[in-house]
Amino acid sequence: MPGDTIAAIATPPGGAARALIRISGPRTREIVSGVWRGPFEPASRALFTGRVDDGLGTQPALCAWMPAPRSFTREDVAELHLPGAEALVRAVLARLHELGARPAQPGEFTRRAFRSGRIDLSRAEGLLELVCASNEAERAAAAELVGGGLARRVEALRSELLDLCALCEATLDFEESDTGHVPRAELEQRAARLRAGFDEALAFEGARARRGGEPRVLLAGAPNAGKSTLFNALLGREEALVDEAAGTTRDLVRAELALAHGACLLIDSAGLEEERDELGREAQARTRAALASADAIIWVADARSTPSEPPSATPRVLVWNQIDRAGVPPAPPGWLPVSARTGAGIPELSAALGHLFDTGSAEAGPLRELSLRHATALRQARERLEAGLSAQRAGAEAELLAEDLHVALAALDEISGASTREEVLDRIFARFCIGK
Ligand code: GDP
Repeated sequence: MPGDTIAAIATPPGGAARALIRISGPRTREIVSGVWRGPFEPASRALFTGRVDDGLGTQPALCAWMPAPRSFTREDVAELHLPGAEALVRAVLARLHELGARPAQPGEFTRRAFRSGRIDLSRAEGLLELVCASNEAERAAAAELVGGGLARRVEALRSELLDLCALCEATLDFEESDTGHVPRAELEQRAARLRAGFDEALAFEGARARRGGEPRVLLAGAPNAGKSTLFNALLGREEALVDEAAGTTRDLVRAELALAHGACLLIDSAGLEEERDELGREAQARTRAALASADAIIWVADARSTPSEPPSATPRVLVWNQIDRAGVPPAPPGWLPVSARTGAGIPELSAALGHLFDTGSAEAGPLRELSLRHATALRQARERLEAGLSAQRAGAEAELLAEDLHVALAALDEISGASTREEVLDRIFARFCIGK
């Protein structure tokens, strides 16, 4: 719902030196003034020092004011910098909601930046990668995307394709005096340039994906579903800690798992259970972070329990574990029957994982999900261009080539987001944190 005003805490939960609440939308100024006590001058971007009314009293705060359109979302944006006390920050957020701000969805600020044309989809995805980056290589790979490395290449390809379209149109205009075919030499020259451009963009994205490391697959699900046992069964060795007591897996355990094409990093998580103590809380926070940055999850359910859906939109394999137990019901549709104890269904699980990351090309290596999306669009565009060109060589009319070029352009627009379907956008932005 663009047009309404959203607010969210943009810093992680828990105590810290500072916490930040972000507000964006047309009513930002009015809503913030309901809690802000201090100087405020709405005409231009500024940082104000004052106090925030938390309902019980006032607290020292800063307010960064970025009026539309010179803000991340191109809407009026305010950021309240508060003392990093969780209860206080929640109280202020609750007041902002009472004043009319809606709680922001995951990634909604970034989605608004994309909607307003502030950033294209590939840059937004770069931001997502950057937030999830856990090492230098991933940070560098994300930075290339945020910096517009792919967006610039796609824009150049787009412009070449448009030029070729124009050439086709011009040929159509002169159909009576000419044969209706695009001049061969110019066509081949432009085709060669486009081919080189596509190769270069694919190589850029392939290198970026390889730099970002192997795809991360998180084992997640209820405590005692058998995640650690499954981790060992997939790897064919004893590594994770397995115990009857729920919540045994305190730390994230990682290991490389070979797949049909390439490999993935298999991560065992603490069960997504209730927070019971400090140690459990920490493990939960790590699990949530791992969920956010996983490329795929293996969602494990105990076949004796009622199956639940994974809490994120990440690509997943649903595993119905412990089928060796007597009297368990058959796997529900879409779930893979497995016994981590006997090994039944483990080869099928490996195959399903391999399938998730199979790019259909050995040279591409283990592309991560985003890169896979980009590479697929680039390949589709290139294939359509080649199909049009070979039809031309075989004597087809310029009109046909123009059609193929338009399809190729639409495939490229999937990368910038110009023609990306809402469900795909939902899925991409759902992987961001709230407040991002
Ligand atoms: P986690 O909390 O999800 O990591 O679960 P664990 O892997 O620690 O397993 C919990 C308990 O269930 C352990 O006693 C395992 O031996 C048992 N378990 C796990 N998978 C299976 C299975 O496929 N069959 C049977 N019979 N027991 C299993």
